[in-house]
Amino acid sequence: MSFLSDLHEIGNILENYRADTLARRAPVIRQRPLGEIIQTLELDKLVRDGGLEGDRLARFMGSYLENTTRLEHPAYMAHQVAVVHPAGALGALIDAFSNNPMAVYEMGPAAAAIEFFMINWMLGHVGFRPAPADPAQYREAASGGGVLVNGGSLANLTALIAARTRLVPDIWENGNPPDLAILAPAECHYSITRAAGIMGIGQRAVYTLDVDRNGSVIPERLPEAYGRLRADGKRAIALVANACNTPVGSFDPLRAIGGFCREKNIWFHVDGAHGASALLSARHRHLLDGIDLADSVIWDAHKMMRTPPLCAAVLVRDHRDLDRAFEQEASYLFHDKKQPGVDFMRRTVECTKSGLGLKLFFVVAALGEQGLARYYERQCGLAQDAYAWLRAQPDIECPVSPQSNILCFRIRGSDRDQLAQRDRLIASGEFHLSTTLFGRRRYLRMVFMSPQTTLEDVKMLVDALRRPQPDPR
Ligand SMILES: *Cc1c(COP(=O)(O)O)cnc(C)c1O
Repeated sequence: MSFLSDLHEIGNILENYRADTLARRAPVIRQRPLGEIIQTLELDKLVRDGGLEGDRLARFMGSYLENTTRLEHPAYMAHQVAVVHPAGALGALIDAFSNNPMAVYEMGPAAAAIEFFMINWMLGHVGFRPAPADPAQYREAASGGGVLVNGGSLANLTALIAARTRLVPDIWENGNPPDLAILAPAECHYSITRAAGIMGIGQRAVYTLDVDRNGSVIPERLPEAYGRLRADGKRAIALVANACNTPVGSFDPLRAIGGFCREKNIWFHVDGAHGASALLSARHRHLLDGIDLADSVIWDAHKMMRTPPLCAAVLVRDHRDLDRAFEQEASYLFHDKKQPGVDFMRRTVECTKSGLGLKLFFVVAALGEQGLARYYERQCGLAQDAYAWLRAQPDIECPVSPQSNILCFRIRGSDRDQLAQRDRLIASGEFHLSTTLFGRRRYLRMVFMSPQTTLEDVKMLVDALRRPQPDPR
């Protein structure tokens, strides 16, 4: 069997898989026990004997796809994970096939050029100065900069490391001084507190910013939080804001927060993993007003930009902050050399790094910026419509009016009932949704990622929740 015929066959199988998903001929989720799946896939035999090609490959694909969670399914409303545009999958395939670890320019000039270009494209949307393509100018000019990394969590860590190095330039020599801290909203993503742990300052060094009923930072309360930090004898590495937050998708008031950070000379980091994509939309961009005041921004393409995982941008106002973030030496890689491009390597935790930009580029080049903006607007519009409908239901309450495509609600019952309802729907394979704690209460949570989901699906979901349940006794 040749690669080409296998590729052709896999293409057909994936087409059919997609058609089944769109036509709801298969459940959105099917979680069989782990051991059973290992058996069905004949993993043991295949690992022992090899030969995964031709008919055997086709059979394997059948069993594999049967045990997938179908993200493009109209009933998929669970997590903030991209419904990948097929063009993005092609980009991923080309990247995997050619394997150009482009963090060193000589190991992937085309991939590096695309990453450079896409970073500049994102810098422009944020309002940072794009970097000149001539490496000689690049070193001098105080333009923006960035790098694509494997996920928003790593992107947050990378940005916070850059912030720490700016505050404590000898950090790599001498380690952490004892007085470092971070300011972050009560509703920040767990990767922020985890970064504090990884950086060795400890999660207790994260000072919480008060949020309002929407989960958005209250700018008037910033001086109080900063005062607490100073009274404890600490220095702030950075202040983190959400655009938008994970539980309910609300945006923090970036301009007011940015103004406070400027005044106090604190590094301003915007976690735009999910919501920075609103920059593409003329209708939603205002939610990010003031993002250009940030020192660093992260932006996941594998959330609202239909890009295969992982592809997350770390963007900084001044490229030198990122270039210096990890100042160490590895003599075989980091040496002055004459070259026609740039090495992204010094900007990231990773050494070998795939051409992440290609996946994003393929999606943008297929849909155009306008196409992505329309997708973003459609998904948020659905959240608005669903909110209006849910609010009119006597047995349902919503904690906040959605600012993005994330919508939380509660159906009559206790916290435990909400969890039980989700478990029941997932077990039935009818719908896939998530839950979240917000303001100490448990909510059901819908994230509208699939372009196939409509208001009718939300109504059917609520019907399913209302269906009488078998008496557990
Ligand atoms: C999803 C998310 C992250 C984490 O990004 P990953 O790519 O999943 O690692 C961080 N912050 C926010 C606000 C997010 O929504």
